[in-house]
Amino acid sequence: MAKEYDLLIVGGGMAGASLACALADSGMQIAILEAVPWQSDLQPSYDVRTISLSHGSRLIYETLGIWQQIDPEARCPINSIHISDRGHPGFTHLDRKDAGVEALGYVVENRAIGAALMNRLELIEDVDIISPATVSDVDIGQDVVTLSCAVEGKETTVKGKLVVIADGGRSGLRDKLNFQASVDDYQQTAIVCNVSPGQPHQYCAYERFTASGPLAMLPMNGNRCWCVWAVDKADVDELMSLSEEQFLQRLQQQFGDRLGRFSRAGKRYAYPLARNRVDTTIGPRVVLVGNAAHTVHPVAAQGFNLGLRDVAWLAEVLARAKAEKQDVGTLEVLKIYEEIRARDTKRVTGFTHGMIKLFTSQIPPVIAGRNLGLLLTDVVPELKHALLKRTMGMTGRQSKLARGLKLKQHGQLDMG
Ligand SMILES: Cc1cc2nc3c(=O)[nH]c(=O)nc-3n(C[C@H](O)[C@H](O)[C@H](O)COP(=O)(O)OP(=O)(O)OC[C@H]3O[C@@H](n4cnc5c(N)ncnc54)[C@H](O)[C@@H]3O)c2cc1C
Repeated sequence: MAKEYDLLIVGGGMAGASLACALADSGMQIAILEAVPWQSDLQPSYDVRTISLSHGSRLIYETLGIWQQIDPEARCPINSIHISDRGHPGFTHLDRKDAGVEALGYVVENRAIGAALMNRLELIEDVDIISPATVSDVDIGQDVVTLSCAVEGKETTVKGKLVVIADGGRSGLRDKLNFQASVDDYQQTAIVCNVSPGQPHQYCAYERFTASGPLAMLPMNGNRCWCVWAVDKADVDELMSLSEEQFLQRLQQQFGDRLGRFSRAGKRYAYPLARNRVDTTIGPRVVLVGNAAHTVHPVAAQGFNLGLRDVAWLAEVLARAKAEKQDVGTLEVLKIYEEIRARDTKRVTGFTHGMIKLFTSQIPPVIAGRNLGLLLTDVVPELKHALLKRTMGMTGRQSKLARGLKLKQHGQLDMG
């Protein structure tokens, strides 16, 4: 008889692979199904991008032993953050000293995160990696879920107690399973690339709001910066086709001289931006995580950090259910997870959306208000502290993994 798993994870991207790593010691039998060949350079989650991981995400990965496996050359600390509004006087400066931490976050190459996760998964006995396997359908029965997939071109089925949909923001399976996603198209595209600044970045991350969208300049090793520039959709083709020199000129106009004159820009990549949300992330024997559950604007670098907190909590709830010999696919178990995560998800999807609306507005009282807000945040300790906590991913109740506790060390599920 074919093996029946406790958990089927569709998508071996950052969210799906992190979940499988988090459940390594839980005793659950896990299959991870990934469409793109395992360890291939084509894997979309581990592409050329570089993302900013919060202090809280570092803690989760550290507990899992993943952080220690990420190539140190591929991660750079963020010691401070400078937030400003182009053409206006407001600014806020956040510093690691205000938070008493080693770094507020880290800029990490996606490929390096992918290598650490995939290498770890290959060593976990209870995890089967099924790849390349494109899941085309999900049949949810009373006691079991059946996935239909093409494994190396051959049609097959895989069965389990619970399926985690981690197939990304354009999740085809979410729609198939009738989760209603609401989409807000920002009419913006993020252009990302490496740039070389004229002055040392001093491990400061810059977030500069411009009329078309936010422009982030994140520190990387070797005094390079990772640029994430959200521009009006209508301007993308032109900006992508400019020569390196012309592009740097346009970038400089928007960013200013805070980092001196930019001298080089690497290859540019474009990502259209939208917010996706669902009313619920769970159903009988199914749960959505990562971008399949929520996709947010990259402003303030919240997307995967939110997804990793989902992963940490889902792993905690499932490991506990398994230890208590419960059926992990029941709504009773999944509701506990959803209840814990609802607040954080709502806050982050609302916060990032609100930032975009606020900072693209050209209405004079709104401009005055947001600049006053930036200046007040810079000088009022309570406001600064609240922003620091959000930036570090430390608001609300913290999962065991974020508190440095292994899931094997059982005890009561902390419902806060
Ligand atoms: C420009 C930009 C900058 C960003 N910067 C940051 C940042 O600084 N900080 C941050 O926290 N977040 C950031 N994000 C968000 C972050 O990149 C995402 O949250 C994260 O990549 C989502 O990971 P995921 O695993 O949920 O989805 P994905 O990365 O999309 O992975 C989905 C996986 O599922 C697989 N798959 C898809 N369909 C199937 C199928 N049918 N069967 C099997 N497998 C399937 C895919 O091959 C892929 O491996 C940024 C996003 C963008 C666009």
